[in-house]
Amino acid sequence: MCCLPPRARDTRESLSVTKGLKDEMQRRRCSRADYSQKNISSTLKRDRDTFVRRSKCFPFCGRRNTTEEKICTFSTPLEERQKEREREMVYSLLSRAAATTTTTTTTTTQKWRSSSFPFPRKKKKGWNDANKENTGRRRRRRRRRGIRAVVQSSSTPNNPDDDDDETTSVIIVGGGLAGLAAATRLQKDNIPYVLLESSDGFGGRARTDVVNGYTLDRGFAIYLSSYEECNRIFDLDDLDLRTFYAGADVRFENRFYRVADPFRHTADALPSLLPEHKIGSPLDKVLVGLVRLQTVFLRVKPLQRESEKTIEERLSEFGFSDEMVDRFFRPFLGGIFFNPELTTDSRLFDFVMRSLALGENCLPAKGIGAMAEQLVGKLDENSVHKNAKVEEIKNVEDGAVEVRVNMVNKEGQKTTSIKRGKKCILAVEGPECDRLLGTKDKQREKGVGTTCVYFSCDKPYDAKNPMLYLDGEKYKGSKGGKKTLVNNCCFPSVVSPTYAPNGKHLCSASIIGVPSELSDEQIGERVKSELSEWFGESITSSFELLKVYRIPFAQPVQTPSAKGGGKNAFEQTCESGAMKNVYLAGDHRDAATFDGALMSGRRCAEYAKSNGMF
Ligand SMILES: Cc1cc2nc3c(=O)[nH]c(=O)nc-3n(C[C@H](O)[C@H](O)[C@H](O)COP(=O)(O)OP(=O)(O)OC[C@H]3O[C@@H](n4cnc5c(N)ncnc54)[C@H](O)[C@@H]3O)c2cc1C
Repeated sequence: MCCLPPRARDTRESLSVTKGLKDEMQRRRCSRADYSQKNISSTLKRDRDTFVRRSKCFPFCGRRNTTEEKICTFSTPLEERQKEREREMVYSLLSRAAATTTTTTTTTTQKWRSSSFPFPRKKKKGWNDANKENTGRRRRRRRRRGIRAVVQSSSTPNNPDDDDDETTSVIIVGGGLAGLAAATRLQKDNIPYVLLESSDGFGGRARTDVVNGYTLDRGFAIYLSSYEECNRIFDLDDLDLRTFYAGADVRFENRFYRVADPFRHTADALPSLLPEHKIGSPLDKVLVGLVRLQTVFLRVKPLQRESEKTIEERLSEFGFSDEMVDRFFRPFLGGIFFNPELTTDSRLFDFVMRSLALGENCLPAKGIGAMAEQLVGKLDENSVHKNAKVEEIKNVEDGAVEVRVNMVNKEGQKTTSIKRGKKCILAVEGPECDRLLGTKDKQREKGVGTTCVYFSCDKPYDAKNPMLYLDGEKYKGSKGGKKTLVNNCCFPSVVSPTYAPNGKHLCSASIIGVPSELSDEQIGERVKSELSEWFGESITSSFELLKVYRIPFAQPVQTPSAKGGGKNAFEQTCESGAMKNVYLAGDHRDAATFDGALMSGRRCAEYAKSNGMF
């Protein structure tokens, strides 16, 4: 048994370990031929284990602390600085030696560097526990690690073009909202990551183009101001949300009937109780109010409840008339879930009703794509890559994950690279997720589609009210009534003038499904002619087709499992079940909304973190 006081003993231990390491590195630099990752990591591991084992022999102060804590408790600032210098020397030795050998070895160095070797970290705790323990010491340690992460990324730019077989802590595949939320969460904790996005921009299904000065969202989409995760992650001032009118104008028998939110537009809602209002009976309107109240005051939130019902079943359970379902709910909810048959899980109906009751329909002033832009703007630019398509994912030794990436470099050349990660977050659409995992999943494989048609115009139908217009005649039962294309329509430039250049307006018309038999021009002509019946020639005569977006996979099918869907998205875990250390995020793991996608990404990052040491 050693008789030195604990502080002296620990200092001596740490010095002898680092000295041992230095010697080992010196020796190894002389014989680089056998300098393999295995040798290096096993030496490091052995030395670290020896250090931990020895340190555990010295319980003092009656506290059962980890080694790192013991050292911190008893070290003077001078000793602390000396230890820091020692550590840096070892790191730099390791880096220099590794830089002259294979890239794989560089990786090992980085791994150890980021795991605060030679001092083992405290056992990992749950995310919340870690947050609770936000002590000064922990903060200082984090800050130190943060500085190191920056140094690391600047000295070895995380560019996938640079070299093959690069390794990082987490590889995120997919730069949609889910992937970006995962990256945001990891970056917050200084966990090294690399995000690979196959297309030429970030945001996935939530992207926006600017065409001739018009802001065109890739498909008509709405930001609900009550989305909890969105509100948590975004700077709302920067998004500059502009609101729609709380309600809709429903087209029926050559005129519009207003269905208004009675709590926000009471005066407009009263006429809807009259018998001549053709969109549902007075009882239907009362029921709408009751449903809203119920979803707000339920103790358990809609998506956390159990359900094996479709929306259609839920509406009939409530007692809504067929007219109300066909004239209002089918076009309204069909426009949200791209499924006018209303076979979507009824929890999503409750979720939407609750969200509408608690918040408002909005558009960010710079378009839906502003959400992704805001997130990307806060990420380390060396860690996010577009035009980088992951072709293959596999597990390699030690449970690490290896991905093969095809990318286009800055010179426009196509290259292939291999990247390794301790963990991988797969944040791609359901079918692509199955392709990469080599699995088949009922819930993921099928999707619902939509087509969005944009026109420029001189004036909107109603310049004062930013309305959503619905076709109340399109559906008769689930089979459909009229053979028209347009389901819903709006003038985004009335919601936010930023959507169109000065003096002009933008009209957006949505079709459920993709009419593959029609060309863009044919779709444009048919939609314009339908809208001229809605709004009159005086409005549509100035319509000029700007763009047609065909989106065959807008959302996964969200049928409850008891009705032929797969395992329900809200009950899924982060585990892929098919590959080790590969976790799944994306809207097929939660409600297929902006909020659900963001939540799934954050959850995955937290799970990956709590499930292993970075
Ligand atoms: C037209 C439309 C309207 C919508 N309206 C609303 C709405 O009003 N409100 C709402 O809340 N939600 C709406 N949604 C749903 C919402 O947009 C999605 O649920 C959400 O954006 C999904 O995000 P995600 O990150 O899960 O997937 P995605 O956005 O699809 O992101 C996946 C990313 O992975 C990339 N990728 C795929 N394969 C690879 C690969 N092999 N390698 C690298 N990268 C890959 C893709 O390019 C993509 O960028 C709408 C969706 C659409 C299409």
